[in-house]
Amino acid sequence: MENVYDILIVGAGPAGLTAAIYGRRAAKSVLVLEAASYGGQIINTPDIENYPVEAHISGFDFATRLYEQAKGLGAEVRFERVTEIRDGEVKTVVTRRHTYAGRTLILATGSENRKLGLDNEDALVGRGVSYCATCDGAFYRGKTVAVVGGGNTALEDALYLADLAGQVYLIHRRDAFRGEESTVARLRERSNVTFVYNSVVTALHAGERLESVDVTDRSGAVTNLPVDGLFVAVGRVPENQSFAALIRLDEAGYVAAGEDCRTNVPGIFTAGDNRVKSVRQLVTATADGAVAATEAVRYLGSL
Ligand code: NAP
Repeated sequence: MENVYDILIVGAGPAGLTAAIYGRRAAKSVLVLEAASYGGQIINTPDIENYPVEAHISGFDFATRLYEQAKGLGAEVRFERVTEIRDGEVKTVVTRRHTYAGRTLILATGSENRKLGLDNEDALVGRGVSYCATCDGAFYRGKTVAVVGGGNTALEDALYLADLAGQVYLIHRRDAFRGEESTVARLRERSNVTFVYNSVVTALHAGERLESVDVTDRSGAVTNLPVDGLFVAVGRVPENQSFAALIRLDEAGYVAAGEDCRTNVPGIFTAGDNRVKSVRQLVTATADGAVAATEAVRYLGSL
């Protein structure tokens, strides 16, 4: 462990990369560690329409510009999965390949896709089951697909797929959507979108690929729906398991930190969707990044 960074950041999504920008602008040494690709969840959003100033930008473009901005300011980024963090004289972050030391640490790990928990769900990923409409939608041109969920992701996925697929079923467990009414209104105008309310997917039937799903309504009646693809968009779960021994989490697994982004461990901060909060949006993730890095810089000044 040769180098001690001023700020170690786990996660190169909007929160982590914004924290890197703020850290570098305060002239601190910054290393960002990312398990997958930069950008986090937003990279899969086809069109961001609610970020101030930019009326339309793709999630990929947004993430790429943010990444380049952080790199351009001198933030180091390494693509390694963090398996453990430790507190001590310095903060230690262990990846599969290396061990890194930092005077402060920002946890910006975001969240991962929630699964339906059906028997052969994992086995059918890539063979009809998908968690990313923009990644896989093109495979379903002219075909029949179903989207499960009632949040903004499900609504936007359904809208995106309506341009490609022949028929889109939007299956939601209640009769009111959690996502924005303006997107619901746009979906209602699409003749190839069918709303299936008060229903859940209870079984996946497949040969080589997914062939149909069982949909069960509130009365218990089961309908078999032939589909080529099933897009699961039922929310996210925080990725905090590797910190649970050290960092206080709430009962749902989110880091128990307030608007100051401070965790229970001095010098360790959190930012973005993995933190307890009421609004999980791009703008609140980037705001968290700014707050967490500013708090980290303040902490460094107190050492
Ligand atoms: P979400 O808002 O948490 O919605 C998850 C949906 O899945 C809910 O409708 C929920 O039903 C349903 N659900 C959960 N577990 C289920 C299960 N086991 N079986 C069936 N249905 C289930 O998740 P999200 O849509 O991924 O959005 C996450 C956050 O990102 C939200 O804050 C969202 O606004 C934000 N987002 C924003 C944008 C944008 O602004 N452009 C785009 C995408 C996402 P209930 O409603 O009954 O709980």
